[in-house]
Amino acid sequence: MIHRKKTNQVMVGSVAVGGDAPVSVQSMTTTLTTDIDATVAQIWELVPAGCEIVRVAVPDMAAAKCLGEIKRQINIPLVADIHFQYQLALEAIEQGVDKLRLNPGNIREPDKVERVCKSAKERGIPIRIGVNAGSINIRKYPEPTPEALVDSAREHVEVLERNNFHDIIISLKSTEVPTMIRAYQMASEAFDYPLHLGVTEAGLPWQGTIRSAVGIGALLAQGIGDTIRVSLTGDSCEEAKVGHEMLRALNLRDSGITLISCPSCGRADVDIVAMAAEVDRRLRERPDLMKIPMRVAVMGCEVNGPGEARHADVGLAGGVGVGLLIEDGEVVRKYKESEMVDALMKRIEERARQYTEGQGGGTEDTGLLRIPPRQG
Ligand code: SF4
Repeated sequence: MIHRKKTNQVMVGSVAVGGDAPVSVQSMTTTLTTDIDATVAQIWELVPAGCEIVRVAVPDMAAAKCLGEIKRQINIPLVADIHFQYQLALEAIEQGVDKLRLNPGNIREPDKVERVCKSAKERGIPIRIGVNAGSINIRKYPEPTPEALVDSAREHVEVLERNNFHDIIISLKSTEVPTMIRAYQMASEAFDYPLHLGVTEAGLPWQGTIRSAVGIGALLAQGIGDTIRVSLTGDSCEEAKVGHEMLRALNLRDSGITLISCPSCGRADVDIVAMAAEVDRRLRERPDLMKIPMRVAVMGCEVNGPGEARHADVGLAGGVGVGLLIEDGEVVRKYKESEMVDALMKRIEERARQYTEGQGGGTEDTGLLRIPPRQG
């Protein structure tokens, strides 16, 4: 059981961040923000992948002017990513965004910072201070140490606090996983503001997933972190999916299908690798099923398989040329190897339907469903 540090809570549109709110998953679009259609289409792909807060780049006024229309066409909170230019921040607020990512210390004139803070406060819009190891002031901080990241964040925090602005979220990202972990640990002790976790420029999906899981996972396991963004070079949907899986691995999210499969070994009686991959592929094609809380097991042999599959809601255990379908701890039927995956998928669908009917409705909303109490 993870005891999370209780930070101040801020609202990012309809999503609470910090306090006792669930850790939320964020991602960022890769489209030109001025291409409203492409940006909206990508956000609608991100939502079923598990993205709960989306950020878009706002490099110029043309992009800032598109934010209102993008927001009207989506159903999750929208964050404007702004560097330096206070006019873009004011325009983004005017357009109705739900959060700004902005480092106020980079806006030199105090009166301009004051205008941004006043305007954001009037609309209830929080500001994320995003300190990156690659962009801290190298004259002041020659080495991007954890101390430098936290000091840099503190400078920006103090600018906001001087303006009586406290709806703050902080991130301290680095490509160096040990640096990032230490920086967030120190920030968690230094501030009560919610923390947005991430390993920046983590890399292509294979490496980036591992680096992010190690860095973000280590912190979440210590109770640190209120919202996360996995940065991958590639499809943004993968970022959201990886983020969700991290939360589920730590039991910080209690929803959706969990597929358990054995690694296979010399005892395997069926091609367990192909079978598990096929079940995984079919499940991923069905986002409606993936929302249903269910543990699904695919095990390779009759020696250990049934025992392990008994801990799942529904599962398969291979035998010689046949397989056992196991539900709620009981062997219910034998199937030929060629029929096993179809039989499992059929039962998953039937159980999902029963579950949805028991919840009294459909699954069309973007919220994930809660796990019902396990029987027996
Ligand atoms: S379930 Fe059977 S096949 Fe799979 S790893 Fe265990 S012993 Fe090997």
